[in-house]
Amino acid sequence: MPLVELTKSVYRCRNLVGGEWRAPHGPHDVVGVHENERDVTSPYTGQLIGRVPMSNAMHVAQAVEGAKRASDGWRNTPIKERTQRMFAYRELLLKCLDELAHTAASEAGKTVAEARAGVLKGVEVVEFALSIQNLDLGGNLEVSRGVTCEYRREPLGVVAGITPFNFPAMVPMWMFPIAVVLGNCFVWKPSEKVPLTACRLGELMLEAGFTNGIFSIVHGGKDAVEAILDHPDVKAVAFVGSSPVAKFVYERASRSGKRALALGGAKNHLIVVPDAEIELTAQSVLDSFTGCAGQRCMAGSVMVAVGDVEPIVARLREKAAAIEVGAQMGAIIDQASLSRITDAIASAEKRGAKVVVDGRGKQPRDAEYKSGTWIGPTILDNVKPDSPAAQVEIFGPVLSIVRVPTLGDAIALEGQSTYGNAASIFTTNGGVAEYVANRVHAGMIGVNVGVPVPREPFSFGGTHESKFGHGDITGHGGIEFWSSLKKITRKWSTQSDSNWMS
Ligand code: NAD
Repeated sequence: MPLVELTKSVYRCRNLVGGEWRAPHGPHDVVGVHENERDVTSPYTGQLIGRVPMSNAMHVAQAVEGAKRASDGWRNTPIKERTQRMFAYRELLLKCLDELAHTAASEAGKTVAEARAGVLKGVEVVEFALSIQNLDLGGNLEVSRGVTCEYRREPLGVVAGITPFNFPAMVPMWMFPIAVVLGNCFVWKPSEKVPLTACRLGELMLEAGFTNGIFSIVHGGKDAVEAILDHPDVKAVAFVGSSPVAKFVYERASRSGKRALALGGAKNHLIVVPDAEIELTAQSVLDSFTGCAGQRCMAGSVMVAVGDVEPIVARLREKAAAIEVGAQMGAIIDQASLSRITDAIASAEKRGAKVVVDGRGKQPRDAEYKSGTWIGPTILDNVKPDSPAAQVEIFGPVLSIVRVPTLGDAIALEGQSTYGNAASIFTTNGGVAEYVANRVHAGMIGVNVGVPVPREPFSFGGTHESKFGHGDITGHGGIEFWSSLKKITRKWSTQSDSNWMS
């Protein structure tokens, strides 16, 4: 078992290096606090639930070395065999679904239903990875008599993924199932805020046969990330997290010659026009800004109300005020995030926004959760388009309503955002929907859908400061990112009419 019990429910996480669990700071069974460990607390209760090592460059080097040793054997393992191991991993994920969901919920603050959905979305990417063997992995053509050109898809070698706290299982599984099925050895640096789910996923990967360094985990924060970015044997890095770190990761990885794709933060616009269906729109906007307590990059955070949409706003206010925290909505990851959210609300108020639903001070009914980090859904109305509440990512259950007179103003507002992850239009008019979909600049568009996450095999990715790098993550974009094309030109005998190009 990689998770060592400190007390009844406090676990010490270890790194997964060369297929073995290792305590970076000493023997794994030593109970006690190490200097370079960080506490993991549950957002539900504020209680200590684990300890995570904050690895340094030496620990990263150990994991990369283990992955490098496995690399030749793994890239030369037939893809059908690699796929069979991934199939075994899928079975294990489904077998352990409830346990994984509870672990992810308790460390990330999600509801169990949300955490479960996150694992299942990860399973969907695993299923896409299982289909890679039947997709276009190469081809050939006789380009002139006796001369054949072939291309084939090859793994990159040792690759890495760095992930955020808000989807402990799903976001990592956007990356590693596709990467390892393609023959890469994967080193994962999970968020130090949610390392317990990472350990469990690591155990299941080992059980499925991804042994000996095919799959590794290095826990930690900034130091571990920088060591990955600078390591010459890491050939590609995928990152998901906030925009400033995404930009930093993309630039530093690119400077050291790596392939890099870094997904960042968001400020997603939900454009609502007067002909929108009242109930569907109010429920979709509510789910979009309160799901995962607003801590997801696809959360709708600005509702752009075009003209008179008062019946929809009224229904939305009613629904938001009725949400029970701790039951229908989860907690905020930590006290620092909660303070950032309440500061953003107070600052919007000072700038003239009206708090029409106030979630500040809301507490769950369950006494066990009283020391958690809570806030209820909050709606700010009449937010000025150029104010921080309309521009800056809050990453909490806060909806800013910006009132505009025309659809053109709504499209212009969306276009001015520094982010470009998602945007949705709510209307019953197909022409209006197409008009907006063609003009907004976000990478993922919804029509009467509040969280327009593309499902597999479609790839996930935004634009502007929501993504640094070319291509998308998951789906076909994932195949492109985690592999390279080798081109082979063959000639077996001299042909009188083969031309100068061969
Ligand atoms: P974060 O940027 O703080 O952390 C992400 C990862 O980077 C973690 O593994 C962390 O250890 C590491 N990290 C943090 N600071 C670092 C630094 N200075 N140098 C190097 N590494 C560092 O993000 P978070 O708070 O964990 O997650 C929330 C953010 O992620 C939000 O902005 C959200 O929008 C974004 N996000 C984006 C997507 C997407 O698909 N675009 C998906 C999920 C989350």
